Amino acid sequence: MQFIPFSPLIDIGFWSQLSKNKIEIYKLDDGERSLLVKTKINPYQEKTSQLYLDIYAFQDEITLNKSGPFEIYSRIQFQNYNTIETYQEFDHLNYVQLTFKKMIESFSKDEKPNLFQGRMSIFADLKKYLFYYKLVVPQFQIENIQNIIQKSLTDYLGDQMQLFQQQLSLIIQQQQKEISNTSFVILRKENLQYVQFDEYQKNKQDVIFLYFDSYNQSQLNGQFNNFIAYLITNNSIKDQLNNINIIVIKDALTINKNQFSLKNSIYLELNLSESKIVEQNGQYKAFNIEGYLQEKKIDLKSFMDEQSLAREAVDLNIKLMKWRLLPELDLEKVQTQKVLLIGAGTLGCQLARNLIGWGIRKITFVDYGKISYSNPVRQSLYDFEDSTKGGRPKAEVAAEKLKKIFPDIESEGYQLQIPMPGHFVTELQVQQTLESFYKLSELVSTHDAVFLLTDSRESRWLPTVLSNAYGKMCFSVALGFDSFLIIRHGISLKKYNPEIHGERLACYFCNDISSPGNSMKDRTLDQQCTVTRPGLSFLASAYSSELFVSLIHSPLLDGTPASDNTEQLQQTDLGILPHFLRGQLSDFEVRLFYGRAFKHCVACSQQILDALEKNPQQFLLEALNRPDVLQDISGITEELTQNKQEIHEIQDIDGDDECSVLQIIS
Ligand SMILES: [Zn+2]
Repeated sequence: MQFIPFSPLIDIGFWSQLSKNKIEIYKLDDGERSLLVKTKINPYQEKTSQLYLDIYAFQDEITLNKSGPFEIYSRIQFQNYNTIETYQEFDHLNYVQLTFKKMIESFSKDEKPNLFQGRMSIFADLKKYLFYYKLVVPQFQIENIQNIIQKSLTDYLGDQMQLFQQQLSLIIQQQQKEISNTSFVILRKENLQYVQFDEYQKNKQDVIFLYFDSYNQSQLNGQFNNFIAYLITNNSIKDQLNNINIIVIKDALTINKNQFSLKNSIYLELNLSESKIVEQNGQYKAFNIEGYLQEKKIDLKSFMDEQSLAREAVDLNIKLMKWRLLPELDLEKVQTQKVLLIGAGTLGCQLARNLIGWGIRKITFVDYGKISYSNPVRQSLYDFEDSTKGGRPKAEVAAEKLKKIFPDIESEGYQLQIPMPGHFVTELQVQQTLESFYKLSELVSTHDAVFLLTDSRESRWLPTVLSNAYGKMCFSVALGFDSFLIIRHGISLKKYNPEIHGERLACYFCNDISSPGNSMKDRTLDQQCTVTRPGLSFLASAYSSELFVSLIHSPLLDGTPASDNTEQLQQTDLGILPHFLRGQLSDFEVRLFYGRAFKHCVACSQQILDALEKNPQQFLLEALNRPDVLQDISGITEELTQNKQEIHEIQDIDGDDECSVLQIIS
C-alpha cells in the first residue's frame, strides 16, 4: 500500500478572515482555538490530496454542502501567535508524540475514535501581509499490512450495487457530522445498512467498514494509517483482525442521474493480525513528518486589494462550473483567448459581457461610431451620460466600461473606419484608409478569434479576408428584425487540410455570387438603422458566445467539420458544434444549417488570399473603388459566363438584406 500526505489548499478568504479576527476578536489573545478543515474529492484527477481551509474554517458549526462533492470536516487545533519568536518556539515534534499517545489511549475505549488530529500554528505579520504557518497532521506508520483481496468496488458489489447506492445516499445525507474526525462508518455486511457505533460495540461480527479516503488516485491518504492503528489497538476486535473488510470511497460522490460514480472506489480485505505501529527509539514514527513540519510563508500583498479579491471570486465562480458540473471544461484554454469584436453596438456590448462571464481576459473593440441618444437602452455597456455632447466613441467607452465591471480585464477600443467595398476612396482619403487597413490587420493578427458584429454586409468583408489571411477563428453574427444568423467561418486556407478537416466550411460570403456593395445608398431611415426586436441581440450574442466556447473545446477548433445531418455533428462535452444557426422569434425556433466553402468566394477563396498577399494596397484600393473586381479576381465572372446554368440562384431567405446573403445548402 502506498500513501500520500495532505497538501494544504488555503483559500484567500481564510487569510482575510484571519486578519479580520485578529484585529476585531483575538487582538493580543494568542490562546489555543480550533479550526474546521475539510477534505473532499474533486471529480477530476488530482495530483495531491488536498486539505482545504477557507473562510468557513472559523465557524463553530459545520455547514454541510448539499450540492457539490461530499466533504468531510475535521476540527483541528489552531494558534495564532503574536510574535514570530513564540511561534517558532512551539515544539511540533513533541506535539505529534503527545497526540499519538492520546490517540492510542483513546483507541482502547469503546468510543468513536478521533482519527483526525492536527494543528495549525500561524504568525501573521499583518502590516506586511505576510503569514507564516505550519500545518501538522499526525499520521502513524504501520508495518505488515497484508492485503488479501483488493478489487474495484463495482466488481465487488455486483448485484448489490443498487442497494449500496441507496445506503450511501442515506449516509451522506444523515451522517456527515458522524464522519467528522473519523472518516469511517460501519455497515452490516448482509444488508449494507448503516450501524450506529454503540450498536457495533455490542456485536462486532460481520461488518464492513466504509472508509472515506480523500484521494481519488490509487494511493491512499496517510490518514488510513490512523484508521488501521485504531483497528489493531482496539482490543475487542483482536480475533477478527485476520480478515477486515473495508470499502474505500475514493470518488467525489456527486449525484448524476440518481447514481454516484464509483469508478475509483475499491474494496479491500486486509489481514492485520501481524500489523504493528512503527516505533523508533521509543517514539512513534510519523508519516511525512518532515513535510508537515516545513514552514510555509504566504505573501498576500498582491491579494489584499479589492481588485484581486474580485479576480479570485470570478475565477472561483467559473471553476465551480468545472468542479460541480463539467470536469472536462478547459477553462484555461477559454480564458486565454484573445477576442476581437468588430462592432461595439448591441451585439458587441452584450457579447463582451458574456465573454467576461466565461473568464476571458482580453477583449478589443473596433467601432467607428459614437454613442447616440437611442443607444444606451439597448447597448448594455453605455449610459445616458455617454450619449450627451455629441456622444463619446463607442469602442473606447466599451473598453472603459468593461474595466469598470471587471478591473482585471485587458480591454482596448479603437475608433476605426473599416474599409468597405463600394465605399469609394478619394485621393485625399487614401492615406487614412491605408492606416485603418494596417491597424485592422495588426489587430486581427494579434487576436485568436474575430467576431463580426457590424450592421452592414460590406463592413464584414475585410475582417473576413484578414481572418482568413492570418489563420484566425472567425464568427459572423447578424440581426434581422426578428431573426438572427450566426456563422462560424470555415477554417483559414492557411491551416486547411482536407484529410483532417474534411470539407471546408463556408464563410459569411461563400454563398454569394456578387461582391458586397454600398448598402447604405438609396436606403430609407428604417432601412439604414438596424431595426430589430430588442431581445434579439441578447439571444444572438448568447448563442454566439456559447458556440465559441464549445468550439474551443473541440480539438480541431475552427477546423471542426460540420454536416447537414444534426446527428452527425461533432460533439464536445458541451454539446454539438453546428456550422450556422438561424434563430427566429416569430416561432421561437433556432435551426441549424451547414454550407460548404465556395471556391470562388469573394472573401475566403485562394484567389482573394493570393491577391491580398501579392499587393495588399493595390488589392484593397481596387476592391473599395470597384467592387466588381472581387468577382473578377475570385473567378466568379468567368464561371458565370462559362457555366451560367449551373450557378444556383441566390435564395433570399428572409427578405432582409442583412440575413439574405447566405443561401442555405441542405
Ligand atoms: Zn467564403
